Amino acid sequence: MSKVVVVGSYVVDLMSRTPHLPKPGETVLGGPFKMGPGGKGGNQATAAARCGSEVTFVTKLGEDVFGREALKHFRTENVNTEFIKVDPGQATGAALIAVDDKSENSIVVALGACGTITEAEVLEAEEKVKDADIVLLQLETSIEAVVTTVKLAWKHQVPVILNPAPYQEFPREILRGVDFITPNETEAFELSGVEVVDEGAALAAAKKIHEMGVGTVIITLGSKGAFLYTGGEKGELVPGFKVEAVDTTGAGDAFNGGFAHALSTGSSVKEAMTFSHAVAALSVTKIGTAPAMPYKHEVENFLA
Ligand code: ADP
Repeated sequence: MSKVVVVGSYVVDLMSRTPHLPKPGETVLGGPFKMGPGGKGGNQATAAARCGSEVTFVTKLGEDVFGREALKHFRTENVNTEFIKVDPGQATGAALIAVDDKSENSIVVALGACGTITEAEVLEAEEKVKDADIVLLQLETSIEAVVTTVKLAWKHQVPVILNPAPYQEFPREILRGVDFITPNETEAFELSGVEVVDEGAALAAAKKIHEMGVGTVIITLGSKGAFLYTGGEKGELVPGFKVEAVDTTGAGDAFNGGFAHALSTGSSVKEAMTFSHAVAALSVTKIGTAPAMPYKHEVENFLA
């Protein structure tokens, strides 16, 4: 079995629909309330595990009801929970999500415990990182966790995928230790200063990011697919799949989880991108984030 280590966030998604989003000072009555596992790290770990990888997830939870539910979720998904810390002094992360009748949303993410992952806590998983085929991380944790993970993977020569989401500043020198970077259009702009308005702009942005030291740049472009750049004058648009989308939240997470899985099994970058487009396309046909991630057989049937 291919081995993937994900270092990242877990937050519980607390969601309600409202006729309109509350204005400052306003209280609105919500419709049905939904709760479910979320956070970019947790979603990507779930996606990779459902694709068939042996996944170790490094994160931190609080000693509360949300933390206990999270552990239950990851055990059900066959994710190794050995390096999920439980900190009695912290609350489990939570995302407070309001969605209005027009599907506009407003989200507050309180990272809680997973925003405080320390260098020492990442280093506890050193053996797993050393043994991994690929390491996958995002920017939804403490930057200390991100920097430590990249250095650790570099030490053991394990390839790293950085999904720079949600964008926050980090020491750019770590990009030299990153093999694959997967920003969406917004994150590509934050990294490069180039607005990704078309393919030409995607190439310009990718070139700038590549110059920062990342070997392979993949800018995801929603339903259009993703732009691949590995150096030189040209890049390439790898198209996505056409599906009836009902909820695109978590599409990027599905893509990254699928990509980590496919690379860890030895697929070429382009094969891995096509596989992850399928994972992401299937995920947008369902409501929710982690629960919407497809299983291996669904992806295989879709691609057959
Ligand atoms: P994010 O969710 O991080 O903003 P994107 O919107 O770029 O990321 O989507 C990531 C990937 O999800 C795309 O490259 C594509 O594979 C898939 N995807 C997103 N939206 C759709 C859609 N409407 N139909 C099919 N695939 C989609």
